[in-house]
Amino acid sequence: MNITIKNKEEIEKMRIAGKILKQTLDLIESSIYPGQTTSRLNDLAYQYIISQGAQPSFLNYEGFPYTICASLNDQVVHGFCTDVPLKEGDIISIDCGVIWQGYHSDAARTFPVGTISREKQALIEATKQSFFEGIKDIKAGCKLGNISHKIQVYLEERGYGVVRELTGHGIGTNLHEDPYVPNYGKYNSGIVLSEGMTLAIEPMSTLGKRDVFLEDNDWTVTTWDGKPSAHYENTVLITKDGVEILTL
Ligand code: MG
Ligand code: MG
Repeated sequence: MNITIKNKEEIEKMRIAGKILKQTLDLIESSIYPGQTTSRLNDLAYQYIISQGAQPSFLNYEGFPYTICASLNDQVVHGFCTDVPLKEGDIISIDCGVIWQGYHSDAARTFPVGTISREKQALIEATKQSFFEGIKDIKAGCKLGNISHKIQVYLEERGYGVVRELTGHGIGTNLHEDPYVPNYGKYNSGIVLSEGMTLAIEPMSTLGKRDVFLEDNDWTVTTWDGKPSAHYENTVLITKDGVEILTL
């Protein structure tokens, strides 16, 4: 395992990458409505990131063809953008990354399209809250498994599935670095967190079973039972006293 510790200048670059990404996600959120297309959202994200003097992390990453991942309803992550209009009642997970002077940020949100069902709304809220439960009381000296464990417990206690095939990750000059940050695990297990580590923490949940499959495009991960899925992710910095969220 090769976990990088970031110095002050590196952290400052990641803060800027995080800020531009947060603004990109805000722009996308305000552009979601029934009839909108994910191709158009992709264009908006690309143009905004470039206008800030930054670059999209995901575009051409291992051949990925878009600036954003747009995962609709039962798609968990890595959804492709299309010209199919979003419909009232859909939920859409938008995952995006920004590079600023060689440093990456990575964040995801699940957004409602118009009015959605109460159970989809609850899924979105619980997934977001599981992230905050995961980082609660976390600081340098804590074990990584505490984050994983708290996310898993929060979601499973509410009856949601926790996707295991994909995990959070370290982040820095690479989009994906060591260590893996699973959304399940044992309390007090794993590596000890230290000051200057930067992690993308990203619970992925389902309204049904946790099983997923890979679609024919070799990218998109979708629930096996066709039930909706939600995703919430931020890039964070581990500090002496806690966690600084770089993408909020
Ligand atoms: Mg992401
Ligand atoms: Mg990520």
